[in-house]
Amino acid sequence: MATHDELTGLPNRTLLTDRLKHGITQAARTNHKLALLFIDLDNFKNINDSLGHDVGDLMLKEASLRLKACVRDADTLARLGGDEFVALLVDVDIDIEQIRNIASRIVDFISASFPIRERSLFVSASIGISIYPDDGQDSTSLLKNADTAMYRAKERGKNQYQFFADEMKVIALQRMTIESGLRLALDAGHFTVVYQPKIELGSQRLIGAEALLRWDDPSLGPVSPTQFIPIAEHCGLINAVGDATIKIVLDQMRGWYNEGLELCPISINVSSHQLRNTEFARQLAAQISTSGVPAHLLCLEITESTLMQDIEISHQMLDQLTRIGLSISIDDFGTGYSSLSYLKRLPLSELKVDKSFVDNVDTDPDDRAITTAIINLAHALGLKVVAEGVERESHAEALITLGCEYAQGNHFHYPLYPGKFAALMGGNHRANA
Ligand code: C2E
Ligand code: CA
Ligand code: CA
Repeated sequence: MATHDELTGLPNRTLLTDRLKHGITQAARTNHKLALLFIDLDNFKNINDSLGHDVGDLMLKEASLRLKACVRDADTLARLGGDEFVALLVDVDIDIEQIRNIASRIVDFISASFPIRERSLFVSASIGISIYPDDGQDSTSLLKNADTAMYRAKERGKNQYQFFADEMKVIALQRMTIESGLRLALDAGHFTVVYQPKIELGSQRLIGAEALLRWDDPSLGPVSPTQFIPIAEHCGLINAVGDATIKIVLDQMRGWYNEGLELCPISINVSSHQLRNTEFARQLAAQISTSGVPAHLLCLEITESTLMQDIEISHQMLDQLTRIGLSISIDDFGTGYSSLSYLKRLPLSELKVDKSFVDNVDTDPDDRAITTAIINLAHALGLKVVAEGVERESHAEALITLGCEYAQGNHFHYPLYPGKFAALMGGNHRANA
């Protein structure tokens, strides 16, 4: 089986590479094109994690049959491993329309329900396409460019195909630079954390803070978390980045505690990938107990879309985390698709109104209406509401009128360096310290 994949019986990477090299030689001689489709199943890991590997295997077998039905006999369909497949289309007179048809058939076939063990399961496929000779002259660059285009399809929302384009090379290069920079930064400890205060709207009293990660790279300069977090997620570094963040925050809290400061609760952002790590709660509990910081002073911010991605898994994880004593905040609320009946059952304590609604809450009646609905919903569920991204006085006034109690934003405080933030907390010295 040196040339075939055991589970699906499809050609493996070795055989694919052989066929691709052979195809390139032929196409070069006859002046024809080839197309390479890099196919990755979306969120397949969730199926494996939640339903077990044997269900995952059945799904992969069925997916490979569906893929096989989309390509022609002369084409090669290979499995690279995991949930990654590649189709090599060798038709001599292949044209873009034909490639589009095949790619969209694959997207349709894979998104149809998979009846497995009396359940209907769903996945989707993201596909990246590279074409010989336009997008690469050799097998390595064709595969790499198809992979880059596949990544773009995921970024655009998955369940679709993308042709490779030259601009993607620039983006891919930036991504690689950031990825290798991240590895170095993790080793060298180039990360820092800033703290953005959360305040009570009426009194402007400090009620907590959100820890926000900062990376100032010696050669790249400051890189925004909106840029490097998705890359860390893609290249498998997010758990290390997340651990480093938690460690920095716990060390700082411990230090402040030792100085006799009255600590306020600190929120840490966690990514969906961290939450899918079944060891996350256990590892976090160990980190917290080593630090000696009381768990009830920590809150985790989890975005609405992450929570709703796989609600059963989220629910179990949240139960584990709250048992440790942590509280949970639902971040960017209003931008995902919440199952309202579920919200009620999850052990949440706070809801953050996304900045996109706060931006025009003082001027736009629609945003006002949405914000009102979110605030009322949160209160009905017994959750604290924090409006984020408050930038002006008129935002704050509108929010107070709508009954929102807490807020965060540059109007009150920019994210603060630890020293500044400690000074702000400094007003609150522990009575017994
Ligand atoms: P987020 O969790 O929604 O964080 C709020 C972002 O809004 C922060 O940007 C904050 O600096 C910014 N912000 C706060 N007030 C205002 C305001 O009044 N006006 C404007 N224009 N912006 C405001 P930042 O620090 O760049 O973080 C961006 C995103 O990166 C965060 O969004 C979060 O999703 C992610 N992130 C940051 N730190 C971490 C981390 O440690 N772990 C993970 N997984 N994600 C993080
Ligand atoms: Ca947040
Ligand atoms: Ca947010």
